[in-house]
Amino acid sequence: YPPELVRNFSIIAHVDHGKSTLADRLLELTGTIKKGHGQPQYLDKLQVERERGITVKAQTATMFYKHSINGDNISDGKESPKYLLNLVDTPGHVDFSYEVSRSLAACQGVLLVVDAAQGVQAQTVANFYLAFESNLTIVPVINKIDQPTANPDLVKAQLKSMFDLDPSDVLLTSAKTGEGLEKIIPAVIERIPPPSGSCNSPLRMLLLDSYYDEYKGVICHVAVVDGALRKGDKISTVATGQSYEVFDVGIMHPELKPTGILLTGQVGYVVSGMRSTKEARIGDTIYHTKSAVEPLPGFKPAKHMVFSGLYPADGSDFEALSHAIERLTCNDASVSITKETSTALGLGFRCGFLGLLHMDVFHQRLEQEYGAHVISTVPTVPYIFEYSDGSKLEVQNPASLPSNPKQKVIACWEPTVLATIIIPSEYVGPVITLVSERRGQQLEHSFIDSQRVFMKYRMPLREIVIDFYNELKSITSGYASFDYEDADYQQSDLVKLDILLNGQPVDAMATIVHKVKAYRVGRELVEKLKKAIDRQMFEISIQAAIGSKVISRETISALRKNVLAKCYGGDVSRKRKLLEKQKEGKKRMKRVGSVDIPQEAFHELLKVS
Ligand code: GDP
Ligand code: MG
Repeated sequence: YPPELVRNFSIIAHVDHGKSTLADRLLELTGTIKKGHGQPQYLDKLQVERERGITVKAQTATMFYKHSINGDNISDGKESPKYLLNLVDTPGHVDFSYEVSRSLAACQGVLLVVDAAQGVQAQTVANFYLAFESNLTIVPVINKIDQPTANPDLVKAQLKSMFDLDPSDVLLTSAKTGEGLEKIIPAVIERIPPPSGSCNSPLRMLLLDSYYDEYKGVICHVAVVDGALRKGDKISTVATGQSYEVFDVGIMHPELKPTGILLTGQVGYVVSGMRSTKEARIGDTIYHTKSAVEPLPGFKPAKHMVFSGLYPADGSDFEALSHAIERLTCNDASVSITKETSTALGLGFRCGFLGLLHMDVFHQRLEQEYGAHVISTVPTVPYIFEYSDGSKLEVQNPASLPSNPKQKVIACWEPTVLATIIIPSEYVGPVITLVSERRGQQLEHSFIDSQRVFMKYRMPLREIVIDFYNELKSITSGYASFDYEDADYQQSDLVKLDILLNGQPVDAMATIVHKVKAYRVGRELVEKLKKAIDRQMFEISIQAAIGSKVISRETISALRKNVLAKCYGGDVSRKRKLLEKQKEGKKRMKRVGSVDIPQEAFHELLKVS
């Protein structure tokens, strides 16, 4: 395949606007997968993706399509040329915009899909700009035109006013009924330019993604920018300089299909002697060993916005958890992992995530795919504290911040984001209230059309990390859409809030909060813990404190002796039941000092902001 016959494109959209369904239809239309293969959203392979209906990891598939461009001179008996199309499906959720920009690096154009009833939403805006800034050709597609509330004309007007997209360029489809689908691939071929690399230059490939396969070892997804790659070639990466032999090379069609060669402009996979995905750094340049090449631009490294501690729910399971995390991070290189020790929880890990959903998905995958049982500590964002001696401390774990520092803190900084919110105009009031409670600063407020408002805020990252999106959804009956990009650090009045059980600080429960909110948060944490911790043989005091000052306190009274006596009465089956229940309960308990804390208590803490 000469580059003129190759097209690399991606589908971008707000979550639920139909990217994955559309991708399925295109795969069927080109005969890449069979119609009615039973599993919708073919490219969503992970269990979490199927359960949550979201795409987490971008997947790639190669399709073939015969097409003649208008004006192509095809003489009798000669067939239309067959095009090789690489479709990269991308996740729509904010946390995964890193994956989106990664997929776009291999593309020359995108289908920008917008729901005909919902119109332009926050992630439509974010994704449009990602594509626009990368100079990609944008093919606008209004999907779901079969819906009774579809209003394609209104959506066309939005696309014109917000992105200056010509209404006559907009394709209308329904991935459900199949209407308009036949126009999409011809538009991809005719409007999106072929890749522009040079066939005669030395090999340069961009490493798009990598994962670990039990049988084949490390599988790299690559885009060949210049030159060609053949089975048996010796390749190296710019990052390590190490040399590997190519054992297998091919395309995703949609399963791995060996071709023995990848040419300029193609997207495919490579299996070489790499032992671990750590050797396959995403965004790295791969070249023929001994040739001299200029590295490709690569990607911005993933930025970790949320940190949380992960501990085995059962203390003895550290090795198992460690193994599970190692295997999972082989397939999710965007998580950062360092070992940490907590006096309360023992040995564990500090993990950095791209966002809260990313963290949730990581936990869920650990439990479902690797059978790990974990306790996670309250998520935190990275703060910076500056001391009077001029030293600065980046805090990824509140416990690591001294409660009574020797040096005076002279300034604290917290990360902020630029948040985009799009809502129907009747919800403006409640949204402004919510955003100002969350310390947001309004930057922009404008109408997209007569019913929809576009708002831009600068907000502390901490305020959106915890439950903001859920609350926004609930006060707008689900109509709000929301996206954010990271902005700078801002100076802020921060304090460390300690939680003490029977006078002992529990390091895993410490948080950093804005001074103004400290009392309310302290109160709520203490109340939540009181509800979550069962009565035990002795009295338990729960306190929230800033430094040595206690700001909130609750007590859980001891179980009375005669209650226990009753349990050990004559009824054998009842006694057995109780013992079994206790055993069950124990699995999910963590003993901190002398107090048994159920796993749920840690989950409850996640909800306080
Ligand atoms: P994604 O999040 O953008 O990948 O969206 P999905 O492809 O997962 O689709 C979200 C939901 O919209 C699913 O329930 C689909 O069945 C549905 N959907 C997708 N395309 C259409 C369409 O053209 N018409 C209708 N009525 N529903 C659609
Ligand atoms: Mg999807």
